[in-house]
Amino acid sequence: MTFGTWGPALSYLFKNLAQKTAHILCPRYCFACGRLLRPEETLFCRPCSSTLPENTNPCPRCGRPLKTAEALCLACFREEKLITRVFSPFLYERPIKDLIKAYKYGRRVYLARELARLLKRLYPEELLLAQSPVCPVPLHRRRLWTRGFNQSHLLAREIFGRRRGKNFFTRPKYTRPQAGLSAKERLKNVKGAFALKEKPPPRLILFDDVLTTGATARECARTLSQAGVKEVWLAVVAATG
Ligand SMILES: [Zn+2]
Ligand SMILES: [Zn+2]
Repeated sequence: MTFGTWGPALSYLFKNLAQKTAHILCPRYCFACGRLLRPEETLFCRPCSSTLPENTNPCPRCGRPLKTAEALCLACFREEKLITRVFSPFLYERPIKDLIKAYKYGRRVYLARELARLLKRLYPEELLLAQSPVCPVPLHRRRLWTRGFNQSHLLAREIFGRRRGKNFFTRPKYTRPQAGLSAKERLKNVKGAFALKEKPPPRLILFDDVLTTGATARECARTLSQAGVKEVWLAVVAATG
């Protein structure tokens, strides 16, 4: 037998060994129940994974969960939207909600890689393999400074790679945090908050961690369409119901 035929077997053996060593040296625990994770598990153990709040029947245009077998939700049926597709594999409920908060506010930056692995299994190929750049929803530099990192930028890069993760925005106007504001207040709060630092391509994917009222993403999309962008998709981790 030549070395050539042994090549794949050896490479598998080393990969397996490396995975097992990492598992022993740096054990990982289930984010929901605390059980020790197996090497092939990501963030959640198998029993907890089966109970995650997956967004199993979303409206393809706005990402909100559909209650019945309709093709679009009523709001999307009635109104033409700037964002034509939304991808949200999860609902913003526990333990996904706790995970996003730990990542974002607890500065647990290492969770980005794990979360990316989980999301890559759930996002459809049309999103993962699309050629359009993925632009994170920007943070004002004052918030960037206090938080230390832009959670959406880091996550987008982990999922889509450095080449596709590209930021086109600046955020010249400081706005209050959207959390705690009503839908109407959110819209007013982000109005005119974004500017573009370079000409964007005709198709673009926005990326954010959570889709709440969608006011921030819509304002980003409005800024993009004023600059000639024809189609905007939005990918998030989780959407509120
Ligand atoms: Zn568990
Ligand atoms: Zn909809």
